[in-house]
Amino acid sequence: MRSRSSNHWANVLGDFDDDFYELPCPHCAAEVTIAIGEYGRYTAIRDWDMGDMDRRDLRPSPAEELSGVGRWMYEIAVRDGEGLLAEGISHLFGKAECPSCASVFTIADEYKAANCPILR
Ligand SMILES: [Zn+2]
Repeated sequence: MRSRSSNHWANVLGDFDDDFYELPCPHCAAEVTIAIGEYGRYTAIRDWDMGDMDRRDLRPSPAEELSGVGRWMYEIAVRDGEGLLAEGISHLFGKAECPSCASVFTIADEYKAANCPILR
């Protein structure tokens, strides 16, 4: 059995074919849209009229650098032959660049801090 935090992540995770996450940048507080899906894996500033502006590619974490719940989920996805899911996980637990201030942060860390602070 696993800890409750893995349940949290299981709920957060979709199947990565159409997933978006909204996070405040930890440095400049810009609202950053993170896309992990078939159409791309990137950060952007979402504009109501213009769509996703100023896209930056995500930087997936190499499998051997994953740890904790990220590693656990990645291994399960690989075991189950869920290639897309495994790839989505390595992006979710990888790094993103803020399109506004160009600082780099770990998506999963910021997501946890923004959405579920008690899990820390
Ligand atoms: Zn920023």
